[in-house]
Amino acid sequence: MSVLAILKELQVAHDGLKVIQRDLSALPPEMASIDVSLKAAAKRIQEVEKAILAAKDKSEALEKQQQQAIKAEAHARKELKASTHKVQYTAAMRSLEEKERQIETSQRAQKEIAATLSSLEAERESLLSSQAEDQRQFDELHEIFLSEHENQVVGKDRLTKLIAELEGNLDAATLNKFNRLMQNRNGRAVVHLENDACTGCNTKLRIPLIYKLKAEGSIICEYCQRILYLPS
Ligand SMILES: [Zn+2]
Repeated sequence: MSVLAILKELQVAHDGLKVIQRDLSALPPEMASIDVSLKAAAKRIQEVEKAILAAKDKSEALEKQQQQAIKAEAHARKELKASTHKVQYTAAMRSLEEKERQIETSQRAQKEIAATLSSLEAERESLLSSQAEDQRQFDELHEIFLSEHENQVVGKDRLTKLIAELEGNLDAATLNKFNRLMQNRNGRAVVHLENDACTGCNTKLRIPLIYKLKAEGSIICEYCQRILYLPS
């Protein structure tokens, strides 16, 4: 088989695969709605997990703060015991009270963050369980959907294998060029000439190029760079 014949067949196989993939991705409404909720759940789970990590970080920082406050309080208490003079005693008392307030504030903040954390964890748990239930339902329906589309599933397998086979018969440079065109030219790399125009970009070819095409069987379209051939 000539390289052009392989490329033409490869294009046909890709076209067929595209149609099948469109059929297989057109989910019935019931599945589509589960799919939407699965995607929303995945997004929310990600957000919740991020929030959990942030809350844990904050909780750790507060814990450190608390340790420091406790140390400072112990120190203030010692100073209070050691104070003999009345003025000294009042100052030490004030300092101790301040340290105690700091501990209280930090405890309150810790309690708040613990509550936030546990509500986030509860939300995550409920999201994960409803996600699992949705996934189970989706998989069940998907299996039915695939059995109803058996022809497409079989066709997809066949075309996937054919594409691999055809690709195996091309040299790496040609295959790369083909795949790049497929990617950049809307899935159409190999096109034919019709009424002296490229059917890829609908541009009329210059006369010398038409002669060249007739002589060589295929050329690169000078406007869209697609592989252009003369239909037999
Ligand atoms: Zn063109």
